[in-house]
Amino acid sequence: MKMRAAVVRERGAPIQVEDVELEDPREGEVRVKIVASGVCHSCLHAADGSWTHVPVPIVLGDEGAGIVDAVGRGVRSVREGDHVILSWSPACGLCHYCAIGRPVLCERRAPRPGILPDGTTRLRLRGETLYHFGTVASHAEYSTIPESCAIPIRRDMPLETAALIGCSVMTGVGSVLNTAQVPAGASMAVFGAGGIGLNVIQGGALVAATPIIAVDVLPHKLDYAKRLGASHTVDAAARDPVEAIQEITRRGADFTFVAVGNTKAITQAWDALAPGGTCVLIGLPETSATVTFTALSLQANEKVLRGSRYGSARMRDDFPRLVELYLAGKLRIDELINRRFSLDETGAAYQALAAGELARGLIVH
Ligand SMILES: [Zn+2]
Ligand SMILES: [Zn+2]
Repeated sequence: MKMRAAVVRERGAPIQVEDVELEDPREGEVRVKIVASGVCHSCLHAADGSWTHVPVPIVLGDEGAGIVDAVGRGVRSVREGDHVILSWSPACGLCHYCAIGRPVLCERRAPRPGILPDGTTRLRLRGETLYHFGTVASHAEYSTIPESCAIPIRRDMPLETAALIGCSVMTGVGSVLNTAQVPAGASMAVFGAGGIGLNVIQGGALVAATPIIAVDVLPHKLDYAKRLGASHTVDAAARDPVEAIQEITRRGADFTFVAVGNTKAITQAWDALAPGGTCVLIGLPETSATVTFTALSLQANEKVLRGSRYGSARMRDDFPRLVELYLAGKLRIDELINRRFSLDETGAAYQALAAGELARGLIVH
């Protein structure tokens, strides 16, 4: 079918909404009519060229929700008309990692970005191969994806709100609940109060971590952080965040989270840890970035450095659980959305993101 989608033709080129072709779902695949799609920093990296491992031309968007519109042969977990949140991490359900409850590490994920697990794409731009950002390529009218990427949810959950669960809420809240398993009363510091960081903060509030220290260089982001549960804020442009965290916690933070793609923040989050503390890396720096730290600083204080992919999600269980938390008033998602755009305004949405104007922007189709 023909549809409209937000495309990056070349790294660094402006985002343009184009007419593209979408293939019908093959066996084990579904087509979803997208209702809303979040504006995510990882798409910005792909568009501005800092992620050279992402192929072009590509349809952007890794966060969305919609309604199943067609199903391929053999699909059993969803049917036409079901409301779904899109997952950017396909899971086969059968491999070692799926079997032990770590589907974000599925061995049958796509071998590289931009393609589906079978190595092909369902998108064409004037007959040429067009890639899927984050598998789901959600800045489009429709998306054809593996069944495992369409997670059914309750029909009374508003789909515009549900869209954010598909990346930023899952990644941020999941890093606290699933990856770090922060206990009540533990201290934590969050570097970066953007779309992901704000969700790390509300994950901390959910488990009663205290204090919850937000670190950013933009004062208005620190205001959002307070509203989502930060007990303290540190303006890293005005003072050394490591010193500030030591002062507030007295021994360093039990957990630090890096929700920004910045190697300096990683080093600071490591240095701000208490003995025995855990530093969780969520944000992604440019493709070839490296970080160094002294080996002794790890061994002597039994510190832990841990990556978190997609908040260590078990998508089929966690998405509905986050929906329940939202409907019970325990998770705030509407407060995260500070601007709405149409699909045609996708370019402007990413300009606003790059300028630091968005908590979360939402493209409403
Ligand atoms: Zn994302
Ligand atoms: Zn698997």
